[in-house]
Amino acid sequence: MKDLLVSQSLIKGFTDYKMEKECGLLFKAKYLDGLQTPPSATQKLGQFFEYLSTGALPKGGVAPECEMVYKGTPKEKPSADYERAILSSEMYQDLISKLGIEVIETGKYICDPVNKSHGTIDIYAKWERQGEFNPNWNGEPYCFIDLKYTGLIDDKWNEFGWQVDSLPEKHGLMIQGVHYKSLAETTMAIADIPFYYFLFHSKNPDYVKIIEQKIDETRASEHRILVQKTRDMVLKELETGFKHYPSLLKCKECPLFESCEYKTTLPMVEVVYY
Ligand code: SF4
Repeated sequence: MKDLLVSQSLIKGFTDYKMEKECGLLFKAKYLDGLQTPPSATQKLGQFFEYLSTGALPKGGVAPECEMVYKGTPKEKPSADYERAILSSEMYQDLISKLGIEVIETGKYICDPVNKSHGTIDIYAKWERQGEFNPNWNGEPYCFIDLKYTGLIDDKWNEFGWQVDSLPEKHGLMIQGVHYKSLAETTMAIADIPFYYFLFHSKNPDYVKIIEQKIDETRASEHRILVQKTRDMVLKELETGFKHYPSLLKCKECPLFESCEYKTTLPMVEVVYY
């Protein structure tokens, strides 16, 4: 195995594994053995939007295709979901121009070999007019932008929902900003790079929301400790062996299903202590 570098998705996956929400064998296959898992329908749609917007290819390097309806007939056209994604990508182009954002690089890979941390940010940009739209701007002209194509822009209760007041409790979403801000500090010498989420509503192409994630210095240093701890625990687990957590639904959707000796096709008993 190559030198283990920690991404924000590895941290999330390992946290899920420790909470027994992710099977250890699948975690190992995805994050240590390089298994590419096929995207879900929602992920495919998001990849299509991002590809149209920025030209970024998904991990496999293949351009996402538009889903068509009435194929082979004169009525052939993009499905309603994909039609909206096309409109949202046009909205993205329009916004980038009107907000005065100069995109420097899309799909920017950043690696910090000292802290064993890495990641790929959607957009690295120079945005000198941030102050016109963001009263809390710190004056740093460079920024990171993470694109989200989601139906949960204002959802408070869903763990993937983006209602602003609920976000400080949603560590699985917020880890992204911390991770990339920390990488910018250690590898690009930008101490507090503004980190924005540009959220495009998958059901309403006219609705876009921009959120800046701010963090304090304690959070950044805690994150670097978390990266180190996670790396140590993953390497330890590799020595002792990852645990399998079969379950009816997870096994059914698991890409390792055919070859896995621990798979189940029946419900497993769960325990409650009362
Ligand atoms: S088939 Fe089930 S037990 Fe096997 S790796 Fe997948 S989730 Fe784990």
